[in-house]
Amino acid sequence: MSDRKQKLLDAMAVLGLGTQPQSLINGTLTSGTGAEIQLVDPFTEEVLITYPDAGEMLANLACDAAQNAQVGWAKGISAAARGQVMQDIVRAVLANVEPLATIEAIVAGKPIKDCRIEVAKVAEMFAYYAGWADKLHGEVIPVPSGHLNYTQREPLGVVFQITPWNAPIFTAGWQIAPAIATGNGVVIKPSELTPITTVALVKIAESVGLPVGLVNVLCGLGPTSGQAAIAHAAVRKVIFVGSPETGRRVAVAAAEALKPAVLELGGKSANIVFDDANLKHACLGAQAAIFSGAGQSCVAGSRLLVHKSVHAELVDMLSKGMNNIKLGDPLDEATEVGPISNARQFAHVSDMVMKAKDAGASVLTRSKTQAQGYFVPPTILNGLSNTALAAQQEIFGPVVTAIPFENEADAIALANATDFGLAGAVWTADVGRAHRMADAVRAGTFWINSYKAIHVSSPFGGSLSSGFGRSSGTDALMEYTSAKSVWLDSAPIPRIAFGYVS
Ligand code: NAD
Repeated sequence: MSDRKQKLLDAMAVLGLGTQPQSLINGTLTSGTGAEIQLVDPFTEEVLITYPDAGEMLANLACDAAQNAQVGWAKGISAAARGQVMQDIVRAVLANVEPLATIEAIVAGKPIKDCRIEVAKVAEMFAYYAGWADKLHGEVIPVPSGHLNYTQREPLGVVFQITPWNAPIFTAGWQIAPAIATGNGVVIKPSELTPITTVALVKIAESVGLPVGLVNVLCGLGPTSGQAAIAHAAVRKVIFVGSPETGRRVAVAAAEALKPAVLELGGKSANIVFDDANLKHACLGAQAAIFSGAGQSCVAGSRLLVHKSVHAELVDMLSKGMNNIKLGDPLDEATEVGPISNARQFAHVSDMVMKAKDAGASVLTRSKTQAQGYFVPPTILNGLSNTALAAQQEIFGPVVTAIPFENEADAIALANATDFGLAGAVWTADVGRAHRMADAVRAGTFWINSYKAIHVSSPFGGSLSSGFGRSSGTDALMEYTSAKSVWLDSAPIPRIAFGYVS
């Protein structure tokens, strides 16, 4: 057995997970019976573990379990007690950073120091929503009839969450925390390629008092396990984080069953640099925007729009800078960028670079790369127009398309000329221009002289092919609850305009 596989199994043993990914149904690790799924180490290309797809039967059991546990969680204990359990989860997650980060680094191929930060962010998400558990209340509305009218925010019941492979435990915490803070039961299906840390997170939560069955994890495939859960009668809403193509399928299946959905999809975000910007800062921002996480981020600054007078200079700075980025083993403390997370994505990124070359791009790439693993070196595509495939389709790798612009109006037009609407940024010393750009660029998140700053307290989401609905902040509290309007008549005779009493 390889060292890395042994490390993975050791970390799984510490967390009580057995030797292969298993679904967590009603507090019990349960093996599926479906098609075999392989987990491959993206750094060595070694098959680490195989496991069976959860399948329809486990999906149904997971939804039933969540439905049963949800009633007691929502009504059987106080909201403050729910918050207390979530605070206990915060401490338990922080006590397990190392095994969680190790699993994530090996299976997802993310640098271990990034994985530690993401695990700490999960703790922060539980802390943030723990605080909200007993502070979510309704309103009293001065209706003209004189009734006492008030609203209360109610949990939806069971929600089904589907997450991708690029930030597995981060995305799980991001969606589970607001869902349970507001009294919902959860079934979550992580990507079949990175399921282990989601199971671990829920197991850790159960070990400190989360009722078993409240959150269930399905380890398996989307078309089987995922679709079965969408169709289950107990599921009241579907929250999907992933690609636009799959998001469309999920939204259609949810709509068929008259269930609402939140879609957190991809992007083709514009990182816009004006000639008055501090170019060193803009260059650092551009690197972080597209090369961190090997570009496998929904908000990646994959289109670098640069004023024509500084375009060549900035591209040169960026291309020199990328030679200093430390590519390597995700388990190595010094590694800044790991491999692409899986073979399918590696093929897609490589194919997009080939197509860009065929379309006439000059491809600037670092000379030194890795001999093994799914590595794509940091790459700049220069000389393409905004209508080129590489500027329109999500690459989801460390590949940026650099495009010059003429003036502010041109920059805005280019920024908005895609099917997406997730994020964007501007680098400028002109504060008025910064606000004009923030106003004009279509994006759910926009940065001024910054990139990739996000926090659980601030809303996040997109429009068009980037999806709809919002996560994080108080917006997520709204997504995971619905308003009930209650009318009370205090008049001596009920204020009812119609009726007979015999
Ligand atoms: P993907 O769409 O291939 O898969 C996402 C999830 O959907 C996985 O769990 C998968 O098993 C499941 N799935 C697949 N087919 C399904 C089906 N027919 N029914 C139900 N579920 C199904 O996405 P990916 O390749 O895992 O992730 C990369 C994508 O995720 C990128 O487009 C990225 O931009 C996006 N993403 C978006 C955000 C955001 O917050 N907007 C965050 C992270 C990633």
